[in-house]
Amino acid sequence: MKSKIFYFGIFFLISIFCLTGLNSSAQTEDVPDYDVLIKNGKVFDGSLKPAVKVDVAIKDGIIVKVAKSIKGTAARMINAKGLHVTPGFIDLHTHVDGGMYFPENRACLNYLKQGVTSIIVGQCGSSAWPIFEKAEDQMNRWSEEGIGPNAALLVGHGTVRQIVLGMEDREPTQEELEEMKALVQEAMEQGAHGLSTGLIYLPGSYGKTDEVIELVKVIAPYGGIYHTHSRDERDKLLDAVKEAVEISEKSGAPVHISHFKVMEKPNWGLVKEACAIIEEAQARGIQITADQYPYQFSNGYPYVSLIPGSAWRGSGDNGGLTSSDIEAIFDHLRDEQLIELYLKVTPYIPLSEHHQQFLEKLPRERLVRRVARSLIYMGNFRGPGNARERMLFIERMKDPEEAQKIREQIRTYLENTVGAENFIIAICVEKDLEGKSLKQVAAKKRKSIEETAIELELMGAKCIPFRMCEEDIEYIMKKDYVGTGSDGTAPFYGIGLIHVRSYSTFLHKIKKYALERKAISISHVIRSQTSLPAQIMNWEDRGWIKEGYKADIVVLDLNNIKTETSISNPHVYSTGVKYLLINGKFALDKWKWTGKLPGEVIKLKES
Ligand SMILES: [Zn+2]
Repeated sequence: MKSKIFYFGIFFLISIFCLTGLNSSAQTEDVPDYDVLIKNGKVFDGSLKPAVKVDVAIKDGIIVKVAKSIKGTAARMINAKGLHVTPGFIDLHTHVDGGMYFPENRACLNYLKQGVTSIIVGQCGSSAWPIFEKAEDQMNRWSEEGIGPNAALLVGHGTVRQIVLGMEDREPTQEELEEMKALVQEAMEQGAHGLSTGLIYLPGSYGKTDEVIELVKVIAPYGGIYHTHSRDERDKLLDAVKEAVEISEKSGAPVHISHFKVMEKPNWGLVKEACAIIEEAQARGIQITADQYPYQFSNGYPYVSLIPGSAWRGSGDNGGLTSSDIEAIFDHLRDEQLIELYLKVTPYIPLSEHHQQFLEKLPRERLVRRVARSLIYMGNFRGPGNARERMLFIERMKDPEEAQKIREQIRTYLENTVGAENFIIAICVEKDLEGKSLKQVAAKKRKSIEETAIELELMGAKCIPFRMCEEDIEYIMKKDYVGTGSDGTAPFYGIGLIHVRSYSTFLHKIKKYALERKAISISHVIRSQTSLPAQIMNWEDRGWIKEGYKADIVVLDLNNIKTETSISNPHVYSTGVKYLLINGKFALDKWKWTGKLPGEVIKLKES
């Protein structure tokens, strides 16, 4: 009995020991090997190679293993059977910084849904910094409050010029140039990736080539990159591309051409010569690349009237209220009153100290203009919705000679842009006309093109001219130095007519050009929006599914991509991305936004 108790005691002790032992070994097993393990997916690694079936393991935000059948435990197992895994998409060109100012847009959900994990902002010569705040302030705010995708900043040439020279159309003095250079340098010191220009926009267009060269020279020693909305995307495209090459050559910085294209029918085809210029420069050792959005139409607000303004309003003083009339009214107010009014309407609340100082220092004329424009959207005063303009137009149409002139003007306008066959009706009270070309509608109505344009205009129809041709789009897309850049924004969901590119660029490019038209391979598209942009931006830790890289990852259902945004209804999120990881954290989980803001501000690494 005694021995039984003894043995039982021993057994009990051993059991306790074993249980504790088991327990402690169970605890070790509880700490999983990985944070996320993506199994059974077909992986495009960012290269031109076809997808291969490998597993991807992630720990602490980093891809730690890529191999066939990875064993081990993970806090989160993803079975990607039937799905494709790619590096997160990098958008080389966006204007989301404006929208992202507002916390509700900070996630950039329209981009997350496309699989975008990194964006580059401050484009086309325009950045909020350092005009309203320093680049650093913006970076700090985004870092503290969180952002959806990772973001890198450029400093805008137009913005810098505006600070120093206002809106004056002249060359800077040596002193002013030094001031501009100091502002660019300051942004670079704070982690900006380079300089952007918008050489068709005011005041960027006032900047001559030499001025830009001087400013790009400032970014070169930092390893910065020069992004340019070139001086011309129409008949003078070739000169514009040559200017970009010259700026790179003389400054020593790489150059990147934004939203590379040629617009208007008479210029179609010029992109071939433009590419030849780029390739010749590359052969001489110049680093020159480009990006593209995969659509035939341009502009953030791509909708236009069917009648040119000159034909609609005619000559003389029939135009009604103009912006200068409104500015004249405002000119009667004192500066303080103007600023007070501005404070009542600006969305930038509370106004930063910088912004306030900027307003106080503005010359009178610019202050009046800025406040007038903030208060009143001039577009409201124009067009067929304006009863006065409408009445005057109809009156003019009653005069046969005048009517003939109007028809002539419409015909020339259509021919010189893209032709009636490329003017697509986007919004119309007669819904069945939406999506048809002006030419098709005219045929349907059995009327002339001009009469149809007038009829549609009077019923408030909006159309979108297809300014680029498919042949050019595909020609550019096939180039191995052309990445993807949406040129989109972070809109308020459902508000305003905007270009569909904000909602669909990345998935549309895969679906239309690789899967449907088979103009390029899937891996070519994936590379153009992953490893190539990373290489262009000189990021050595993103853009690939490789060990040691940041875990920015898309898990995509290639066979079920839906991009239902349309010119008649642009605010529709794309679908196809089942999981989206940004810095190893889930931004999308089973198609849905997790509510998290895992993006980081990417600063140019110190070289
Ligand atoms: Zn642009």
